[in-house]
Amino acid sequence: MSSEVDECSICLQPKELKWALPCNHSFCYLCLKGSIEANSSGCPICRGPIPNDVYEKAKMKDMGAPEIEMEDVDYRWLYSGRNSGWWAYSDSHNRIIEAAFKSFLQEDLLGGGDDTGSVNINIYGKNYTVNFTAMTQTSSHGDWRNIKRLASEEDLEGFDEKLLKGIAGIQVEH
Ligand SMILES: [Zn+2]
Ligand SMILES: [Zn+2]
Repeated sequence: MSSEVDECSICLQPKELKWALPCNHSFCYLCLKGSIEANSSGCPICRGPIPNDVYEKAKMKDMGAPEIEMEDVDYRWLYSGRNSGWWAYSDSHNRIIEAAFKSFLQEDLLGGGDDTGSVNINIYGKNYTVNFTAMTQTSSHGDWRNIKRLASEEDLEGFDEKLLKGIAGIQVEH
């Protein structure tokens, strides 16, 4: 038994939403997706083939995480689906957005400050701006989503899970 952290060789953090390729190398799903979009030259480690259906196949159950328990966290940030429903941010983005939101509220409370009320996040190699005044997520290439913060037990329990599509593009089954 090894006590070593299972580290992603792209972001050097513990693997989040671990995704394995046929060559058996595994990465965070979002890191791998970013790498594929940046250069589709195969597995980042061995250049082994990447299945074409890596996007369509991305389901929570394939990652050993069949469901999302809304109440597992104290807060959850969501962004709207292209046509309907809501996607949850990955855990790391969830934490980054919440921390930025808290400091935004704090600055607001103290009056003044030049906080723009937004935070930039990187999702699979693309930059997005999450804005707390407009409650939107926008990208430089024109993608535009609404965002939502569930931050109480009532919010989290009251959210209709049928509207939850999954985490960061990885689908849950309803
Ligand atoms: Zn990673
Ligand atoms: Zn490989």
